[in-house]
Amino acid sequence: MACDQMTENAQRKYIGRIAPTPTGYMHLGHARTFLMAQQRAQEAAGRLFLRIEDLDQQRCKPEFVEALDSDLRWIGLDWEKDVLVQSHRSDRYQAMWRRLRDGGLVYPCDCSRKDVSQALRAPHEEGGEKIYPGTCRNKTGSFANPSAPLSRNWRFRVPDGRTIAFVDENLGAQSFVAGKDFGDFLVWRKDGFASYELSVVADDIDMEVSEVVRGEDLLRSTARQLLLYEALEAEPPAFFHCPLVRDGSGRRLAKRDKALGLRALRAANYDPKMLASASLEELARIRPAGD
Ligand code: GLU
Repeated sequence: MACDQMTENAQRKYIGRIAPTPTGYMHLGHARTFLMAQQRAQEAAGRLFLRIEDLDQQRCKPEFVEALDSDLRWIGLDWEKDVLVQSHRSDRYQAMWRRLRDGGLVYPCDCSRKDVSQALRAPHEEGGEKIYPGTCRNKTGSFANPSAPLSRNWRFRVPDGRTIAFVDENLGAQSFVAGKDFGDFLVWRKDGFASYELSVVADDIDMEVSEVVRGEDLLRSTARQLLLYEALEAEPPAFFHCPLVRDGSGRRLAKRDKALGLRALRAANYDPKMLASASLEELARIRPAGD
């Protein structure tokens, strides 16, 4: 992203978002990232919206939506009244997919791979990814133009060898090489759902988000998403990636680690103000409830 574009982004009216996935209880890592999103919005006298990323209908549960509402409020978060719910936006995602398909930027894929089963989730990976080998990239005929296209998996054809560079508002200059750091990624899954990458970009465009604040484990996804903005001829937001909260043994917190979940910390009477202001080192020293 060029510098003049960053300046242009900064001049747009600030719209931020927090985008939890209700597949479990929120933990300290979510809270800290979302508090940063709130702080950025407040400093810019902007607005902060909540988006519920519930495309993975098998794993998302209404009780987790209820829980995140009260747990995030407990830690001091507040957001605009209009809440965007991804599972209500299928038509919009289809429209975006159609634009990509009509532009020849995506292709159907019938390979069964792990990334297909995980496409609805944000890839919070720490190492590299297994690059899709391109098996279905150049198939032609009825394979490339299936009669029931939305019942197929579709991948975005990345420009192999191209460097995707951007300046992160927090971490500075970043660059990834398409085809090396990430491969042809899924935009649509044959069970009728947009992938994480496509739905997030569609939403951020429609919500007119000016800055995305999220964990630094999604940096590589930012490179993928910048390609989608370009393909959809939309101006990308600015990006601000936050350091991850880790537990005492250095592991990134996950929803399955209930002990440092907001629920548990709340039940153990932790002071939310302390959790909001503690350093990452202090957070890593917090004793899990029940220890
Ligand atoms: N819902 C995503 C998550 O796991 C966040 C996506 C984003 O902020 O772009 O955590």
